[in-house]
Amino acid sequence: MTSTFRYVSFASVFLLSACMSIPGTNRKGLNLIPRAQEKQMGDEAYKEVLAKEKVSTDARLNAILQRVGQRIAAVVPVSDFDWQFTLIESKDMNAFCLPGGKVAFYTGILPALETEGGMAIVMGHEIAHAVARHGVQRVSQGLLLQFGLATVDATVLKDNRYKPLIMGGLGLGAQFGVMLPFSRGNESEADELGLRYAAQAGYDPAEGPRFWQRFSKATGGGKPPEWMSTHPADANRVAQLQAMQAEAQALYAKSPKYGVGEKL
Ligand SMILES: [Zn+2]
Repeated sequence: MTSTFRYVSFASVFLLSACMSIPGTNRKGLNLIPRAQEKQMGDEAYKEVLAKEKVSTDARLNAILQRVGQRIAAVVPVSDFDWQFTLIESKDMNAFCLPGGKVAFYTGILPALETEGGMAIVMGHEIAHAVARHGVQRVSQGLLLQFGLATVDATVLKDNRYKPLIMGGLGLGAQFGVMLPFSRGNESEADELGLRYAAQAGYDPAEGPRFWQRFSKATGGGKPPEWMSTHPADANRVAQLQAMQAEAQALYAKSPKYGVGEKL
């Protein structure tokens, strides 16, 4: 038996045992990271981002971010997230949700969101990545394939060798690690789950395809729009969100109706 074969067979047995179900889908995915470590990873990455960024003090925009966030948090199928929603004062067009429900929106993305409803679409999408554990699965794959790590404990999280992979894998900006776009499969799963969350939270899901059409024309205010490079607003994406409208409108019909809410 060659060592490669031994490694592969060990890895496949291990991977089978490390499979987990993705809430709200029929899919299973790889995850080597226990839930407690996953949340700790999200907390630490969030602290690191907030320490480098300027938090917005705009009371009106903060109030909108909190209410959109809380309304979506109330409909997602997880109960162990410690939600936090922060508005960061920055020209960057960016938004993310880390494991454990740590959400940030950058003020640079607000013009493209245009309305509270647009924010709900992106909020739903980002929260869906965290609920479906896309980031933590990507970190798991990286730790296994690049470093041969089959288990992840608190010491791994503190080791600087793994930090760029963890930060990049969780979907944070290139300034924090190697920025990796999510796969197309992950992206369309996040679009689908996110649109449902927005509709159940009371935001008109028709804003989904409209937002992506607007976003495709946004320029990023001179800085390279990072979220745009990892979230191509192409015709397929818009078509998929249009194809989901009947299902999403049926959910919206049973929800409170905020429409597209306040203008940002
Ligand atoms: Zn995404």
